[in-house]
Amino acid sequence: MSQNQARIIDGKALAAAIRKEVADECERMVGAGLRRPKLCVIIVGENPASKVYVRNKRKACEDCGIDSVTVELPEDTSGEELLDTVNRMNADSGVDGILVQLPLPKGLDEEEIIAAISPEKDVDCFHPSNVGKVYIGNPVFLPCTPAGIVELLKYAGVELCGKRCVVVGRSNIVGKPVAALLMAENATVTIAHSKTTDLKSVTREADILVAAIGKAKFFNSEYIKPGAAVIDVGMDRDEDGRLCGDVDFEDAVSVCGPITPVPGGVGPMTVAMLMKNTLKAAKLHLT
Ligand code: NAP
Repeated sequence: MSQNQARIIDGKALAAAIRKEVADECERMVGAGLRRPKLCVIIVGENPASKVYVRNKRKACEDCGIDSVTVELPEDTSGEELLDTVNRMNADSGVDGILVQLPLPKGLDEEEIIAAISPEKDVDCFHPSNVGKVYIGNPVFLPCTPAGIVELLKYAGVELCGKRCVVVGRSNIVGKPVAALLMAENATVTIAHSKTTDLKSVTREADILVAAIGKAKFFNSEYIKPGAAVIDVGMDRDEDGRLCGDVDFEDAVSVCGPITPVPGGVGPMTVAMLMKNTLKAAKLHLT
């Protein structure tokens, strides 16, 4: 097969454009006498990947003119101490958005902590009330990675209305909410997972394939309908320890249509959508 159908969707460029819009809006707010939006990121423990993600979020805030504070807590922080920190940030009128970096160390109850974040400050859109609002079609915030995926597809000119989407993965962070957002765009959505039988025949039906399973280079060209758009959410490591996605990119491009690379696809969009949500939270509080 030739490689001429594949078109790389540049998530970095789209994310930069969104960050620029957020930065411009922050300057307008300051010009109008309002304070800058402020994001509080809480990280517990020493997970190296989490530290990189938190650093990227802090840097994105700087670029966008959003104030940020990072609260670093030790690995042995108790649930009570973490809840105290969340509650302090809930009560701080100078903080618009609160994000608790996941995963938390063992022994901390993620569900309990997420539910303690004030829904108006829940810029990750993980609080059950915000999740529910997404599902009933009346969202306050949009979940960052799923919203970034929809933006990428629109940016690439991929029609969603009436198209067959297959989302592989059913996590609360990616699979389920991206399926909800794609359905809201009038796509016909199938969610597949580890118990799906004959996965290849399911994914080969897809006009749009969203791969979100966390398995390096799992999806090769045999899983892809010719010309299908492919969104690779995976952030995995290949056998040489290099960052790669769930899609075998080199093989997939021989059959697919537009495709996101890893790195440079979904990842930068997640952070850009977080900036957008923080701006939105600030507007909810300040105007
Ligand atoms: P997760 O919570 O581990 O969920 C993985 C999902 O994939 C589960 O639903 C699982 O099915 C399914 N699955 C696993 N192996 C499968 C297989 N062989 N065939 C079909 N389904 C399979 O992962 P996640 O948090 O959704 O993350 C998925 C990937 O996206 C990871 O690589 C993660 O690092 C990445 N990610 C990237 C971003 C970003 O901004 N780029 C954001 C979030 C996550 P069961 O439910 O049946 O177990």
